[in-house]
Amino acid sequence: IMCHPLKATLTEENNPYIKEALENSDAALAAAKIQDYLQQHNTIPLNIAITGESGSGKSTFVNAFRGLSNKDEGAAPTGYVETTMEAAPYPHPNYPNVTLWDLPGIDSSRFPAAEYLKTFGFDKFDFFIIISSDRFRENDVKLALEIQKQKKNFYFVRTKIDSSLQDEERIQRDFSAEKSLQLIRQNCVEGLQRQGMASPQVFLISSFHLNLYDFQLLVETMERELPSHRRDALLFAIPKINQEIFNKKKKAFEAEIKYSALWSALTASVPVPGLSVAVDLGILVTVINNYKSGFGVDEESLQKLADSTNKPLSELQAVMTSPFAAANVTTEVIIKFLAVTGAQATLLAAEEGSRYIPILGIPLAAGISFASTYSILKTCLNMVTEDAQNVLIKALGLNTSDHFCFLTKQYSLHECFLLLLLKKYMYMYFFQITW
Ligand code: GDP
Repeated sequence: IMCHPLKATLTEENNPYIKEALENSDAALAAAKIQDYLQQHNTIPLNIAITGESGSGKSTFVNAFRGLSNKDEGAAPTGYVETTMEAAPYPHPNYPNVTLWDLPGIDSSRFPAAEYLKTFGFDKFDFFIIISSDRFRENDVKLALEIQKQKKNFYFVRTKIDSSLQDEERIQRDFSAEKSLQLIRQNCVEGLQRQGMASPQVFLISSFHLNLYDFQLLVETMERELPSHRRDALLFAIPKINQEIFNKKKKAFEAEIKYSALWSALTASVPVPGLSVAVDLGILVTVINNYKSGFGVDEESLQKLADSTNKPLSELQAVMTSPFAAANVTTEVIIKFLAVTGAQATLLAAEEGSRYIPILGIPLAAGISFASTYSILKTCLNMVTEDAQNVLIKALGLNTSDHFCFLTKQYSLHECFLLLLLKKYMYMYFFQITW
């Protein structure tokens, strides 16, 4: 039996509700389920607890993790701040479903570990980050063991690595950053073992330079240990500090494209003239604006980057070459983008016409719509990531693009449209002969 290609895209995801609706050929129901799925998928909460002594660098880490500097609006207050016995929530500025919670250190709370966790609402946290800027204490280990007992994950983070290395450099004649890092790690691990932690892993981090040391490793470890439905929330929110994280983010966005495309395809198969194009445009606007904030090239993020790197905003904007560089992507921007090729418009028109062809018309329209939305979104994602890459290179003052190279080939605008057309015709041909 020939497997329907639209259904096949869902089999791997094991998404039973959408599959069932598709199998019963209930396009309207399946479209509604996919819409629900996309909405829920982007609002899955992720709550990360950050605990450590006052002064250990918790607030600075909370800010850096959310892509903020200590001076930005919405930043957690740093420096000397009176310790309170409250858990302070700091939502991510672009992804409010991701919240970092600044918890007082277990030492200053004087609670036993189990009570400490209960007091601050253990259940709501997905995992814990235990921070220290020197060595971990007995209470940190007690807390970790209690978290482990209650079957959640925790990570030991040793902060302020930049200043520790500077200190070492000042006092050592044969200074080697590598050796010093190894020593710091060994000291932390041995300290934890002495307090009763069997085989601890410690991540060495500087919140001022997330691109150095172990932040990448920390992200990979958290990602691996999170349940799959929360993984994307982490990847969307994480600051794009290097090529690996950039590519991971891109992959997370790419994985979502088939749902957006399928949603538009199924809506297209509901025979209401004009609706499909309107929905396509609506989907494109939403999704492209999501890409822009995910890669930090929306207006607000660009302004923040300009401020923190002391570069004029206009200089950063000047290197964005995609049609989506405009402040806010609207339907007009999309229409202009699509109108660059007349063929695109013709095909959209053909889709409108084809839905009236009995039997063949409905799946053909769905097939074309799926293929075109899929290709368009992939093209747009490539364009936005290319903009983001250029902006980052400009902001960091790099003069070569070697620092960032992407997994996928970057196509020129012209090549994109040719590919798009080719794909469309292939799908048309395919759908005609299988249905
Ligand atoms: P909290 O009390 O644990 O929230 O600590 P803060 O985030 O307020 O940090 C205390 C001080 O350490 C501040 O002056 C920060 O600027 C500084 N700090 C925090 N993280 C780092 C870091 O990674 N490197 C360096 N050099 N200083 C840091």
